[in-house]
Amino acid sequence: MDKLYNPERDVFPEDERTGLDKDIIRRAFLDHLFFSQGKFPALATLNDYYLALAYTVRDRLLHRWISTAAAYTEQGARTVCYLSAEFLMGTHLGNNLVNLGILDDARAAVEDMGLDFKELLRQEEEPGLGNGGLGRLAACFLDSMATLQIPALGYGIRYEFGIFDQDIVDGWQVEKTDKWLRFGNPWEIQRPEWAVEIGYGGHTERYHDEQGHLRVRWVPDRVVKAVPYDTPILGYRTNTANTLRLWRAESPEAFDLGVFNRGDYYGAVDRKISSENITKVLYPNDEPLQGKVLRLEQQYFLVSASLQDMFRILDRQHISVEQFHEKFAAQMNDTHPALAVCELMRLLVDERHLPWERAWDITQKTFAYTNHTLLPEALEQWPLDLFSRTLPRHLEIVYEINDRFLDQVRVRYLGDPARVARLSLINETGERFVRMAHLACVGSHAINGVAALHTDLLKQTVLKDFHDLWPEKFSNKTNGVTPRRWIFFSNPRLTALITEAIGPAWMRDLERLADLAPMAEDGAFRERWRAVKRANKTDLVQFIGQHFGERLDPRSLFDVQVKRIHEYKRQHLNALHIVATYLRLKNDPTRDIVPRTYLFGGKAAPAYHKAKLIVKLINSIGAVINQDPDIRGRLKVFFLPNFHVSNGQRIYPAADLSEQISTAGKEASGTGNMKFTLNGALTIGTLDGANVEIRERVGADNFFLFGHTEAQIAGLRQAGYRPLDFYHGNEEIEAVIDLIGSGYFSRGDRKLFQPLIDDLLGQDPYFVLADFAQYMACQDQVDTAYRDAERWSRMAILNTAHAGFFSSDRSIREYQQEIWRVSSVPITLINPDEVKVTVMQ
Ligand SMILES: *Cc1c(COP(=O)(O)O)cnc(C)c1O
Repeated sequence: MDKLYNPERDVFPEDERTGLDKDIIRRAFLDHLFFSQGKFPALATLNDYYLALAYTVRDRLLHRWISTAAAYTEQGARTVCYLSAEFLMGTHLGNNLVNLGILDDARAAVEDMGLDFKELLRQEEEPGLGNGGLGRLAACFLDSMATLQIPALGYGIRYEFGIFDQDIVDGWQVEKTDKWLRFGNPWEIQRPEWAVEIGYGGHTERYHDEQGHLRVRWVPDRVVKAVPYDTPILGYRTNTANTLRLWRAESPEAFDLGVFNRGDYYGAVDRKISSENITKVLYPNDEPLQGKVLRLEQQYFLVSASLQDMFRILDRQHISVEQFHEKFAAQMNDTHPALAVCELMRLLVDERHLPWERAWDITQKTFAYTNHTLLPEALEQWPLDLFSRTLPRHLEIVYEINDRFLDQVRVRYLGDPARVARLSLINETGERFVRMAHLACVGSHAINGVAALHTDLLKQTVLKDFHDLWPEKFSNKTNGVTPRRWIFFSNPRLTALITEAIGPAWMRDLERLADLAPMAEDGAFRERWRAVKRANKTDLVQFIGQHFGERLDPRSLFDVQVKRIHEYKRQHLNALHIVATYLRLKNDPTRDIVPRTYLFGGKAAPAYHKAKLIVKLINSIGAVINQDPDIRGRLKVFFLPNFHVSNGQRIYPAADLSEQISTAGKEASGTGNMKFTLNGALTIGTLDGANVEIRERVGADNFFLFGHTEAQIAGLRQAGYRPLDFYHGNEEIEAVIDLIGSGYFSRGDRKLFQPLIDDLLGQDPYFVLADFAQYMACQDQVDTAYRDAERWSRMAILNTAHAGFFSSDRSIREYQQEIWRVSSVPITLINPDEVKVTVMQ
């Protein structure tokens, strides 16, 4: 790159500090090694070099970040606030290099100095601030909002311990704490000057203000300080750098002082620790949370801190509180931030003294709600007594919202008390609860599901009464994933091959991947396509060999299921197929089958015993099959421990077959399915979540469909589903289950897997046996297709070619146009030499 002004990158020729060319990067890197790390090369560790490179990149982000902040502040730009209890970001360094457009230059600069670039990247600790799909979606959305130059803030929680690290010991999952902050975090900047206070507990008081209006004052009995930590989020090849603002809990100084005077120093320290507990740990998403006070405190902590921060921004830009909803569009990622509805009401009514009706109008116009689940057990409810003890004022506000809302409902549906009870924000069918999804629906002007089928089912089931009431609030926003992390960075070989074939336009507009479709008929191209997949598989094989000592064969079909372990995702259905195939081989040793490697990965919630038993089952099956000399070279099972974003980046590009086999009607969307498709894996899947739309786009001929539809499942359930009929009606399934029950995979222990077997033969709540026969037959079709390498490659190319729709850029454009109504704001870089210094008042 020459040193002329580059309009694409908006770089100044005289800018020696944050320039993007190789020599400037090299010098900045050494400067940071010396002056940030304070290390001479002979004493520098790999981590020092990683940090030197991270700081070099961060400087370039910060230049864009201050330019972005200046533009937003000057223009008072309408801003999206994405409220999410989880942001599963993955590592930052590589992605930032991609988005700056300097991945190759940075690699060259580092390698010229004799350092191993990949090794440096591997030093970065992954911030695991999410459980899975929902948190990862928030991360993809931040990337897309910055790329589309949408003014946006992500608000979340800076958990000290993110999702646990998973070890596999003797086939069982073992959890270890995730100490992601132990070596520091170069990507964040603490902003103590913007800390706010969060109240808990106490009581409320009524009083008359100077004008004689009756008002309510909340007197909390406990206060915690929320301190923001900001991470810049750069768009792809734009100057936009938005902010991810994560809150950390601390004890307030004033609180320490009070106790000092009472001479209770150690008591004060104890309480300080207890305040900090609020952001100590991320909760798993599939354990019952009832009674987890700390979780409710976390949720309130997130929304109160974020809303107070939004008011600070409003005041700073001299915008009236009456215009709150014009300045901010707030999206609630599931119900975890639903308390924002009553917190905004409290801030507007109690603190800013707006009349209730005005405040309610602003609140509804501010919020939109994304639903992520149809599983009734996953719909959040908080016991009333817990709620009132923690947030007494908010409960009053919930009651007031509910009274006014139900009055409306009664007028609309005369003489339908059952409907009123169903719609109420309070569940009074037994122990009383606050229904968070109802609070979110009532307080929002827009409600969306995350795939077409999911949105349809929402309207018919869990949110049916709300849909009857307000059909205009509902819309679908099918999820997407960012191509920056999930192709450009994680699959450079495929990126290069595609760009060579169709030019670079697809990198800014993923739907242009469609230009690839004709290449499916080009034999030479298919050959190169296979070479890319083979090389990616070889990389993964090397990684697994190095870290786990397991030898996999890259020539075998890589059949992959990576996602959280959950009964509805049916990893056990996959396991049954492995055992069935194994039995076929044992009964007919000369049988000609396609050699397969079954790869699994995923974490089970620590208290979800059945999911943990499924992990053990998979590993036990693997332990037997992998040792069996009759099977050698034909079947292999490997459970990759600790599935997280970085492992995902290694796995998705190396997959041949993507397992998306949830019970129809259970998976809201899925995003793993999209990552596989983009990377040229074929899907074996049910008509569930976004699988439906993937199949529509890639074509039924290029998708392995099996299983009962959602309607058929509902039919089975209604007719009184009897899994035993399926067991007795299919010799193969009988043999498979009997083999597991015999202790064959558990060193003769017949009891070990009995809970799973009892479940399958008893209730089988996820219809594993009902779908088994179809799944086997479909897997046979997979074998047939894979034997014909040309056919398989053709299908794979068409999958990638038609996956452009699943870019999160498309999802975000839909949110932008249909829900947020916010304009993009192009950013011009500030020239640091031309800045006039002032001090903020
Ligand atoms: C994409 C992703 C998920 C979501 O996977 P699904 O198959 O959609 O459940 C979960 N965890 C990680 C680390 C991911 O990258």
